[in-house]
Amino acid sequence: MPELPEVETVVRGIAPLIVGQTIGEVRLFSRFVTRGGFEETAQALRGTRIEAVERRGKHILITLDRGFLHLHLGMTGKLLWNAPAGPHTRAILQLTDGVLIFDDIRQFGRLEAAKVLPAGVSNLGPDPLDLDFEAFFQRLKRHKGGIKPLLLNQSFLRGMGNIYTDEALFAAAIHPRAKAQRISRRRAAKLFQSIQEILRMAIEHRGSSVSDYVDSSGERGGFQNLHQVYGKENQPCPRCGGPIRRIVIAQRGTHLCPRCQRA
Ligand SMILES: [Zn+2]
Repeated sequence: MPELPEVETVVRGIAPLIVGQTIGEVRLFSRFVTRGGFEETAQALRGTRIEAVERRGKHILITLDRGFLHLHLGMTGKLLWNAPAGPHTRAILQLTDGVLIFDDIRQFGRLEAAKVLPAGVSNLGPDPLDLDFEAFFQRLKRHKGGIKPLLLNQSFLRGMGNIYTDEALFAAAIHPRAKAQRISRRRAAKLFQSIQEILRMAIEHRGSSVSDYVDSSGERGGFQNLHQVYGKENQPCPRCGGPIRRIVIAQRGTHLCPRCQRA
């Protein structure tokens, strides 16, 4: 599933190409992906001018001269510029100088035209790259539950998913079952620093392609080659050599080194 670095890569790729263009014909093919009726959605978008393309957590927010186009890549969504339509194409937007394609094999993605900022975007917590440590620590102290589900909660922080949560907790040597409230200031500082470093490094490597993520030009990311624990079950821990384990927390497969990470 595309997380903050993957969505950032898509947005950085697509923004300079499409800002300033006008949306022409809109063709929609998926009732799962399109929120709202096909005709209403197409009508709301047709003839609008693209003013900005931004990442909000894992969401893509396109500001139009009237309203917004809100996209979420879900599990397998791809936003492609000037690519040919295929069997998994769920939307085709003709722009002034090219075509924007939304492909989504599993159809957990989302495409929504909105007059005002959609709730899915306005209800998000702060971006981990914009936050300072004190604010992060104060927020952490308010939560009794486990640290992993908290980091995945988009109203706590926006943009973190399974990959970067597992990698950041490993880097900070914190067990994913640790209680958020009980994490000391020193260890929380290490966690916060790890989250920011890993996200920035992943953006530099244009995201992680673990299943079928590609950027807007169809290129895979490179950060999967630098993962320390994610997807590494039974492989040696890069720190202690013991086996990486996979456990399930809040229904999510979670990778950790039980020897290096403590609650
Ligand atoms: Zn270890």
